[in-house]
Amino acid sequence: MEQQLRQLSKDAQTEISQATCVENLQEVRVKYLGKKGSLTVLLRGLGNLSKEMRPKMGQVVNEIRSELEGALNEKTSELKASELKNRLAKEKIDISLPGRKVPSGHLHPLSLTLNRIKDIFMKLGFQVAEGPEVEQDYYNFEMLNFPKDHPARDMQDSFYITENILLRTHTSPVQARTLQAHEPNSPVRIIAPGKVYRSDYDATHSPMFQQVEGLVVDKGIRFSDLKGTLELFLHEIFGSSVAVRFRPSFFPFTEPSAEVDISCVMCGGKGCRVCSGTGWLEILGSGMVHPNVLTLNNYDPQAVSGFAFGMGVERIAMLSYGIDDMRLFFENDVRFLQQY
Ligand SMILES: [Zn+2]
Repeated sequence: MEQQLRQLSKDAQTEISQATCVENLQEVRVKYLGKKGSLTVLLRGLGNLSKEMRPKMGQVVNEIRSELEGALNEKTSELKASELKNRLAKEKIDISLPGRKVPSGHLHPLSLTLNRIKDIFMKLGFQVAEGPEVEQDYYNFEMLNFPKDHPARDMQDSFYITENILLRTHTSPVQARTLQAHEPNSPVRIIAPGKVYRSDYDATHSPMFQQVEGLVVDKGIRFSDLKGTLELFLHEIFGSSVAVRFRPSFFPFTEPSAEVDISCVMCGGKGCRVCSGTGWLEILGSGMVHPNVLTLNNYDPQAVSGFAFGMGVERIAMLSYGIDDMRLFFENDVRFLQQY
């Protein structure tokens, strides 16, 4: 039997050395060492041997088994290495080719505009405050002195979620939230940028747009502070050559109130299609904080005063870049966005 085993080992070694690929080797492994392989069959036959012979032959079988396994593993790595070498020889990679450029994005024109606005006010010592876009009627209207019959409270103009909850129609609720979060009568100097929602859609209106609210409250704040701050801001944004005009207006939460116009940036004030021939462009709303708003939000109008303003980010971006349709901002057309 020992001779039989030695012969089997020799045959297997020969087959292993002649194998030309990993698949061949797998066949050899199955043929000799598999469940029905020659060596396995011989191992099972050990039971028929005498008690004295059994351990001796068992040892021989195990030796042969580990020899064959060793030879198989060695040959496998050898074949794998040469297959890799062949492949590398065939596939030529030109490492001197320049890499493909990964296209990089950039900020949206509205983000660029908002960043410019924020930069100017932060240099003036304003802090940025934020509030929720899904807002309570309490903050959006009630705390801002909006009468019950104000048209903005109409279901047609605002997106109501329930009777008392709506998508905020302006960033002004942040005024009420900020005042209420402060010690009564303590100074406040904030801008509140963010998205607002109204039921409008045409070339100059979008159901979602962005506003920047501003609020300054302190002892002795006067209308001249409002004028100086907004003039400085508008000259920073549109250049020092634009004229700035304050026009009396009405807002429920400011008194007195003023619309702020700049001389038309398209025609320089001569009159054109953009300014409807007037030479002026309406740019933001502003006013002195209404005493009722201060009282409603725990401030004492006898002790402090303030001013507030609000502007549309889209309008400022349209005028500074010369864009005539607001919808372009939201259509995600890369050919448009790439220009900024
Ligand atoms: Zn004009």
